[in-house]
Amino acid sequence: MISKSESIAMIGAGLVGPLLAIGLVKRGFNVEIYERRPDMRRASASAGRSINLALSARGIHALREAGLWDEMRRITVVMKGRMIHSASEELTFQPYGKDDSEIIYAISRAGLNVALINAAEARGVQINFRQRCAGFTLKTGELDLHDQHTDEHRVVQRDVVIGCDGSASSIRNEILDLNRMDVSQELLDYGYKELTISAGPGGSHTLDAHALHIWPRGNHMLIALPNVDGTFGCILFLPFEGRDSFAHLATRADVTAFFSSRFPGAAAVMPQFADNFLANPTGSMVTIKCSPWHAEGRALLLGDAAHAIVPFFGQGINCGFEDCTVLLGLVDRHGADWERTFTEFEKARKINTDAIADLALENFVEMRDRVSDPRFLFRKKVELALEARYPQLFVPKYAMVTFHRVPYATALHRGQLQDRILTQLCDGIDRVDDLDWSKADRLIRGELTPLEIPS
Ligand SMILES: Cc1cc2nc3c(=O)[nH]c(=O)nc-3n(C[C@H](O)[C@H](O)[C@H](O)COP(=O)(O)OP(=O)(O)OC[C@H]3O[C@@H](n4cnc5c(N)ncnc54)[C@H](O)[C@@H]3O)c2cc1C
Repeated sequence: MISKSESIAMIGAGLVGPLLAIGLVKRGFNVEIYERRPDMRRASASAGRSINLALSARGIHALREAGLWDEMRRITVVMKGRMIHSASEELTFQPYGKDDSEIIYAISRAGLNVALINAAEARGVQINFRQRCAGFTLKTGELDLHDQHTDEHRVVQRDVVIGCDGSASSIRNEILDLNRMDVSQELLDYGYKELTISAGPGGSHTLDAHALHIWPRGNHMLIALPNVDGTFGCILFLPFEGRDSFAHLATRADVTAFFSSRFPGAAAVMPQFADNFLANPTGSMVTIKCSPWHAEGRALLLGDAAHAIVPFFGQGINCGFEDCTVLLGLVDRHGADWERTFTEFEKARKINTDAIADLALENFVEMRDRVSDPRFLFRKKVELALEARYPQLFVPKYAMVTFHRVPYATALHRGQLQDRILTQLCDGIDRVDDLDWSKADRLIRGELTPLEIPS
């Protein structure tokens, strides 16, 4: 067994880095994190506070394993389903799951990050802020750290380096430069803008607090997730170019006209939308698939650094946290035999992270367009009826991904089979009562095996 006194450096104190560090320290390793940003606990109180994430089964499981879920839960808001705001501002609520146990949680990104950083430090992880990784020598384990405060460089040497430094990972770029890696990078032709709906009187929510709100408009959409303080974090997704695009929203007048015509209801509860829109940067979204994620038992990529995905299934951080569960499980088995641990980790994860990347792209069309289509809603009802009758065989794709820890690749594959079954069963009917149950029985028993659901 290789010694646990080996030093591990992690790059990035975003969401995944501190959680993994907590697990490694618990297993007796020495861990230091280098983060290029300033310490967010000392940044201005309102910075990025309203921006939030959807947390579900995989993320919650990993937080539970770290002993953090009970504490984190206090800063979440339960979301029971989607609230669809039609073009004429009619509201339709679509529950996420079969009952009230199938829910997801909105959590402030900054709140989660601060809580993870605090928990990591409390357990002995040293986090060095304003230290940008500017280079990494695989052969020696030397990191070139650029101090953002003094503008000086220093070199530190570590036995193992884990890149949790997000979609533009410096560690990935270093491994790539050695011609050791295949990378595909697919930039979406859509961008996003983060906006905020302020709290109402006494910190109340001005929209239903327990829903993820969607204003689906065909080729674009606005979404809003609740925060504990009564605000909502909103994201507007628009094409960069063409009709209804960022290219056409250059002035306050453009933005005001666009919001008033496309999202009048949202504009009414978001009087500052034009200021927000003009002040906030436009973000881009990318899918990154690369391999290998590791080199020479010395370097590993994890989270967005290894597999950035688009945000439409709300799974990026859930997937990154699940990486921690899988990696720590392997560390429990193989100790500090990093070569073996890293190899088995990628073998277990890559097929699944590729699958969620594809599912996330697929879900974009569902969210911005199909959620308001009556045929889509009918299929959802049929799905629930099939699940109620065949709970071991037919579990909706959304549930496999979000409420269970079924491997993503299984969810993708079974989802495709189930889609075909649904199409055959829904064809020509528009009431669940008219379902041909003997056909359903034949198709489901013929094509699906019982689903193994990890506890
Ligand atoms: C608009 C949007 C909405 C999203 N919504 C959801 C959601 O609802 N649910 C969900 O599960 N996921 C969501 N995601 C995805 C989620 O945000 C990411 O998957 C998650 O942040 C990845 O965590 P990470 O720790 O791997 O990377 P990051 O959170 O990106 O953290 C990387 C860290 O590394 C630091 N860093 C980078 N380069 C260096 C360097 N050279 N040296 C030192 N430090 C460095 C960065 O400053 C950062 O702190 C969303 C993403 C977007 C863009």
